[in-house]
Amino acid sequence: MRLGFIGAGNMAQAMIGGILAKEIVKKEDIIASAATQNTIDKVAKEFGINVTLDNREVAKADIVFLAVKPFYYEEVIDGIKDVVDEKQLIISVAAGKSVEWVENAFGGKKKIVRIMPNTPALVGEAVTAICPNANITDGEKQEIVELIASFGLAQIVSEKIMDAVIAVSGSSPAYVFMFIEAMADAAVAEGMPRVQAYQFAAQSVLGSAKMVLETGKHPGELKDMVCSPSGTTIEAVKVLEEKGFRSSIIEAMSACADKSRNM
Ligand code: NAD
Repeated sequence: MRLGFIGAGNMAQAMIGGILAKEIVKKEDIIASAATQNTIDKVAKEFGINVTLDNREVAKADIVFLAVKPFYYEEVIDGIKDVVDEKQLIISVAAGKSVEWVENAFGGKKKIVRIMPNTPALVGEAVTAICPNANITDGEKQEIVELIASFGLAQIVSEKIMDAVIAVSGSSPAYVFMFIEAMADAAVAEGMPRVQAYQFAAQSVLGSAKMVLETGKHPGELKDMVCSPSGTTIEAVKVLEEKGFRSSIIEAMSACADKSRNM
């Protein structure tokens, strides 16, 4: 199986890193293109994969990931659509580009899959929503889920919830990184060394996330377990509520989903 990545930026690199780490595909069987020589040189050096500035070379792969920004889609698809046949799988990664939009851009009965991964793919901990079009067989769906699962959790979803997916997982690592950074800043202000502060903040997020996933308990119940009566934690919770912590997140995600809907 040969994989092609058109666009070799943050998201493509995270997926390539995750796939190579699991040895699902050999590096010689991956090819990526980008807009600049600088980017392809960097990617070739980092991952040892094949690189080119010619998207048409990449478009000959068995599975072709479209990993450019949404506003380049039209130009990129126009440049490759005559070399893509009906047996290849096209995996579209862009926010705001529906399966139908990509089908129309390619024309014909192409096998199109829309996915929404996130950058934790790089460490094998992504979550990816998958929407295959009607030309994908059940066997191919299985293969796609297996490939995507090489870099994290992979689930087939209805395209109707894709804007929610973008808000809760595609974009959410950015909010989580902001949260970790803010917690570390506060710890530094209290006297903790910077490197140790990032480690303690990040490990706390990781451990808390694992508790949600592994205990099956409601996040509110897990929060209550940390809040002793008259204790330190409830003081922090009180300030977070006063400052609109939860409503900030809900409003931010609603803005994110709106942007995706209106792209
Ligand atoms: P990026 O800017 O990091 O990378 C884009 C890449 O596309 C660059 O390597 C650039 O050189 C290349 N490119 C631009 N024009 C090109 C062309 N004409 N031909 C070939 N390559 C070209 O962007 P990104 O963050 O990796 O996002 C890529 C896609 O992934 C977007 O559509 C985005 O919606 C989607 N996505 C990103 C994330 C994320 O966390 N970054 C998450 C989910 C989905």
